[in-house]
Amino acid sequence: MISLAGLLSTKVTIGDPSPNKKRMIRESKKGLKLSFKPYDLQLKHAFTLASSTRTTTPVMLTQIEYDGLTGYGEASMPPYLGESQTTAGNFLSQLKLDQFTDPFRIEEILAYVDQVAPGNMAAKASIDIALHDLVGKILGQPIYRILGFSPEKTPNTSYTIGIDTPEVVKQKVLEADAYKVLKVKLGRENDKEMIEVIRSVTDKPITVDVNQGWKDKNKALEMIYWLKERGVLFIEQPMPKTSIDDMAWLTEHSPLPTMADEALQRLPDVKKANGVYSGINVKLMKCGGIREAHQMLLMARSLGMRTMVGCMTETSCAVSAAAQLSPLAEWADLDGNLLISNDPYKGVEIINGKVTLNHNPGIGIVTK
Ligand code: MG
Repeated sequence: MISLAGLLSTKVTIGDPSPNKKRMIRESKKGLKLSFKPYDLQLKHAFTLASSTRTTTPVMLTQIEYDGLTGYGEASMPPYLGESQTTAGNFLSQLKLDQFTDPFRIEEILAYVDQVAPGNMAAKASIDIALHDLVGKILGQPIYRILGFSPEKTPNTSYTIGIDTPEVVKQKVLEADAYKVLKVKLGRENDKEMIEVIRSVTDKPITVDVNQGWKDKNKALEMIYWLKERGVLFIEQPMPKTSIDDMAWLTEHSPLPTMADEALQRLPDVKKANGVYSGINVKLMKCGGIREAHQMLLMARSLGMRTMVGCMTETSCAVSAAAQLSPLAEWADLDGNLLISNDPYKGVEIINGKVTLNHNPGIGIVTK
């Protein structure tokens, strides 16, 4: 006869069906152990935006250890959001994750992390990503599967062609042979020339990111009509994020969808972007990770907005984490790991231009 005490101590098993290899889902007595280290990404090509040029990107690589397993996370710090390896290191040093003995309590842990200090969204994302990776590893399942997404529903990713001389741009387009959608950064004097150079070598669909570079709504609208004639799919952040009325006017008149990027960070911003932009570009580093990005995508879809999952320049860690959510998005811009030469991880792959998820548990990465 089984005693009540015996029933209560029965361990629940999920994941591996083999009876000899059952992993016990139990709560360890020891708390979560966080560690982190700064890492500099080397860019294959100097990266030119409307505002700056750079050759390296600072990131912070995090790990959360628990019960013999390790969850990996990453913070990538784009200069315009004010984070750096120093601020991320300071923030992460303040966290006392050892007070938590159950990594499945992601709501509770992330609520704690969020209130330690305002901002620090990339640093917060690095905790969210590592926790999801850890939980997936404990369950032995990929995050997209735990969240209920069909991996074959991932979109194609765009591949960014940076602003450069016509010869270099042509070379970059030829190197991007494996990608089905090209992304072009506009917002300079030579915008039309860039598009014409690309159109001289390929007829692939193009997405355009202006990074707030156009200041006049009438000129912007004229340019969008011109771009539509040349096979452009949508325009990301055409005007400054503060130009709300002009942006709403532009979206109303635009023959192409407009997507909010710099104008939008977290969940409450989705409602604000509705009616001002056609859709949103969700990035883990802006919103604090997988949990909130998931909520943002669901909210945008419920409001009838267009959806896109993007990334910063980052390793396969953060890109693979974002890719877990990509079956929810119409478009993906997940090329951040493809632009660097010193990626320490292997994870999501682009096969025939499509974001291709693997069966590895968690966010699906392995260290190289
Ligand atoms: Mg953008």
